[in-house]
Amino acid sequence: MSDLDLHLIDPGSGVLVGGQWRKGGNGTFDVVDPADLTVVAQVSDGDLADATAAVDAAEAAFATWRRTAPRERSVVLHRAFELMHGDVDRLAALIVLENGKSLADARGEVVYAAEFFRWFAEEAVRPHGDYGSSPAGGTRTIVTHRPVGVAALVTPWNFPAAMATRKIAPALAAGCTVVLKPAAETPLTALAVARLLAEAGVPDGVVNVVPTTDAAGVVGHWLGDPRVRKISFTGSTRVGSILLGQAAERVVNASMELGGNAPFVVADDADLDAAVAGAMVAKFRGGGQACTAANRFYVHADVVDAFVERFGAEVEQLTVGPARSGAAVGPLISAAAVETLADVVGDAVVAGARISHQAPVPDAPGHFFAPTVLVDVPADAAILDHELFGPVAPIVTWRTDEELLALVNASEMGLASYVFSRDLQRAIRLGEAFDAGMVGVNRGLVSDPSAPFGGVKQSGLGREGAREGLAEYTETQYLSVDWP
Ligand code: ADP
Repeated sequence: MSDLDLHLIDPGSGVLVGGQWRKGGNGTFDVVDPADLTVVAQVSDGDLADATAAVDAAEAAFATWRRTAPRERSVVLHRAFELMHGDVDRLAALIVLENGKSLADARGEVVYAAEFFRWFAEEAVRPHGDYGSSPAGGTRTIVTHRPVGVAALVTPWNFPAAMATRKIAPALAAGCTVVLKPAAETPLTALAVARLLAEAGVPDGVVNVVPTTDAAGVVGHWLGDPRVRKISFTGSTRVGSILLGQAAERVVNASMELGGNAPFVVADDADLDAAVAGAMVAKFRGGGQACTAANRFYVHADVVDAFVERFGAEVEQLTVGPARSGAAVGPLISAAAVETLADVVGDAVVAGARISHQAPVPDAPGHFFAPTVLVDVPADAAILDHELFGPVAPIVTWRTDEELLALVNASEMGLASYVFSRDLQRAIRLGEAFDAGMVGVNRGLVSDPSAPFGGVKQSGLGREGAREGLAEYTETQYLSVDWP
């Protein structure tokens, strides 16, 4: 058992249905601290009966919640923001325990996650509609937006708090009720958020949580249930495409935040200090385990040596280890992740890449991987097509904008991207030419609750955050009124 705050673990951690905590039909599963491989909690393992009960509760609560005054829903969401904001340390410790990211990253995540409650508390009271008449006359058209219904939310392990709140907050603001399946690696944070929502005054049944090791079974069951009208998924493109297929069978409204392969572009006129600072954030936040993580670096040939020297020096200074030791970079989520990344780096070296800088890793049982800079990476190396999900930075050089754009847009992914240039017009022109849903211009962080997060191509469908995030949970209805 980890020495980190045992009191955080509520032995009643279970399936939350209709405001009641119940034991899962499949017994329990272990949650493991990836920094020392100890079991930190045993969580109820939900089965299909639990999945059905969650939809029963969500469907029953929907009848009331959809008609609850927007202001009332807003007040509850705002209270959730305040509770979460007042509980940053405890929630960050919980994230550290099950995910392993550094304490600074975990705290940053909690603050970011809480902001979705605040943002959507504010959006909840600003519903948009329209009123018009048809060109031929004789009618009035009233356009409204109504909640889509019970929403199934499926979240990954890399941001256990923020991926949950980014879905729950707009769903609740729109008047939907939800059934949430957190990743089996990190269910504790989602359960803590659910407790906090109850404390904030969210009525029973509005938020239901089913932790399970049977993800395919539970989520498939939900998508087969005619009462579920929405799926919002964050995770791999592989699973997202399976879920889109299942959603298609019943024509379920789907939002998908899938994999990324973010290019990080440094132009010849970039402020290299800013580029290095941006690269450290874009690459090493959460140990590189973010779908927005810089995955392939394209640095102009005129500045590549200077960039690599400064970036490499910073990478060598990174401390790797358990968050409780104050390390800047924690472990990867699993032994399999370490093995895959080692293989990908090994193949890149065989293809001609060279390891220029590396940080030391502790000789400890956690899933640690050395932060690594790879130079001389051939522009067609397989590593550049692989979503690394770890602290490895492969660097490719380029000379002309045409060459650069061909490389950037060759990917089937299009989530985040980054561009650094002192010439803002040039940076914007390049950014606009990237096939990407998000472009960080002279900064290494794009996530922002007020901005529409999402990708193009195989990186997904739909947006989260901003006004668009609310629209994902509503459907448009119009009333055509006879107007003689
Ligand atoms: P990651 O590589 O980040 O773990 P996944 O796409 O495998 O991404 O997982 C993201 C979420 O999808 C997790 O909650 C996981 O349990 C869930 N999941 C995995 N496989 C399936 C599936 N076949 N059907 C539904 N959900 C799944």
